[in-house]
Amino acid sequence: MKGIGVSPGIAIGKAFVIQKKEPSFIGILLTTPVEKVADTIRFDAAIKRAIHEVEQLKSTLSLSEEDSAILDSQIELLNDPEIRGNVIDKIEAQDKNANDALLEVIAGFVEVFESMDDDYMRARAADIKDIGNRILKNLNQSAENKQTTFEPGTILIAEDLSPSDAITLDVKNIIGFATQIGSQTSHAAIIAKAKGIPAVVGCGSALIEIKNGDAIILDGATGLLVVNPDKESINQHITKRDVFKEQAKHLKSLKDTPAITTDGTRIKLSANISNAGDWPAVFENGGEGAGLLRTELLFMGRDSFPREDEQFEFYKQVALHSKGNPVVVRTIDIGGDKHLSYFNLPAELNPFLGYRAIRICLDQKDIFITQLKAILRASVFGDLKIMFPMISNIHEIRLAKNILEEAKAILRQDRVSFKADIKAGIMIEVPSAAVTADLLAKEVDFFSIGTNDLCQYTLAADRMNEKIAHLYDPFNPAVLRLISFVIEQGAKQSIHVGMCGEMAGDPLATLLLLGMGLKDFSMSAALIPAVKQVVIDNSWEKAKGIWERVKGMHDSKDIIEYLTEFN
Ligand code: PEP
Ligand code: MG
Repeated sequence: MKGIGVSPGIAIGKAFVIQKKEPSFIGILLTTPVEKVADTIRFDAAIKRAIHEVEQLKSTLSLSEEDSAILDSQIELLNDPEIRGNVIDKIEAQDKNANDALLEVIAGFVEVFESMDDDYMRARAADIKDIGNRILKNLNQSAENKQTTFEPGTILIAEDLSPSDAITLDVKNIIGFATQIGSQTSHAAIIAKAKGIPAVVGCGSALIEIKNGDAIILDGATGLLVVNPDKESINQHITKRDVFKEQAKHLKSLKDTPAITTDGTRIKLSANISNAGDWPAVFENGGEGAGLLRTELLFMGRDSFPREDEQFEFYKQVALHSKGNPVVVRTIDIGGDKHLSYFNLPAELNPFLGYRAIRICLDQKDIFITQLKAILRASVFGDLKIMFPMISNIHEIRLAKNILEEAKAILRQDRVSFKADIKAGIMIEVPSAAVTADLLAKEVDFFSIGTNDLCQYTLAADRMNEKIAHLYDPFNPAVLRLISFVIEQGAKQSIHVGMCGEMAGDPLATLLLLGMGLKDFSMSAALIPAVKQVVIDNSWEKAKGIWERVKGMHDSKDIIEYLTEFN
């Protein structure tokens, strides 16, 4: 079976199935006013219990800020008067019982969210489903199986896990769990991560086939679930489980080890983040600041542009939680695949080559100035730097810097404090910028190489198109030459060069990039320990030798094969 892997690790054990006796309300109509009042009370009590459960979960688990924010937004949804109002309407006007009414209302909301253009809003449909399930479970509460203690080595199989399960279940003997429903942000996922238990959610109705006592292998990274596996499969997974445990233990222990090569070169490993809630994961993984703050999240999932004060508060929170580490704030990078429902971007034949990122900001100065003022105001709360995305020529840099100076002038006039000498840099993600890095270096304080876009533009291979995924290849010599040229020009002109594209977090690329002279890598927080391992195991001299060899190779296949020897 396959579900969504939400908490990594391998569990090999015996199933315990939490039975759910579904009370059959389906289709039962309420015929008297008394029944309707009773069902309204039942519904309100279910919501109350659901809110109480989430609040209890918040106060008893040690959660990351991100997971804590998910729970806050779930409480907000549970309190949403529109959901309650629509359910009560159906009970009163259509004689529906609370279960049926709720299912219909949730299905309606889910349909609306799933049909939205905005990715962020579409993803919210999962949250609504989750809330619906949560209330439903509380409506049917009395029918639940209440066993709370388990044999060692138990893998829990359930329709879903509620916050109260997490609190009341004796999890010390539970080595994994799998649920029928759920998503990355569902409670089951949050509980699993907080408790470090491998888990797979969203397995669907196939899960009902599993019986108490069935042998189970569960892979919380890939979402794989094997029921009654053969000996060979068990042995394979025992090895995999032990390797994972060893690796996880070892990588975690690297948190405070400085990233220094065996011959003494200090490398900076930082994280790509989207908001202040990402900081705990950065520090847990030993990250030193944020090499990229993608600001798009602040602009998504809403119906108008955030005002300057709201933006200021967002950047200020990021700065305040940075523990004094540097944070590179990238100005808004919308367009291409990132759309805002309230901002009517024109339909384009080639949106990735069209009206996006800095191009929009230079054209619609009010949007840009508002963001720049907000970042500047927040700059007194931490070590913020400003970065412009999608730069394709020198003219754009000059215009952007002029507007930055205008934003500073306005703040000065209003007597608002900010860091006057804030560093301003650009992303190198368009081939024209890479090829002219020697010219652009004279205009900015730093470069950050965005390999995700640089790769797609250099190879004319859409990064979102699976059909041509084989062409999208960061190890193609064309991409490698551009990266190396940018690093070399940055060094020649004494400006700082970092990398924040996915390649920075690929341990296979680490030695090659070190060999080119890269000393600043920014990636998803979880990838930092594996990259650090490569850095501390190798010398700068060796890395240089590897790049020298790779320079002479013609085909990325050979390059990848050669690099694999060192991993
Ligand atoms: C990149 O293009 O490499 C990058 C980091 O930016 P994004 O992935 O947000 O386009
Ligand atoms: Mg990019």
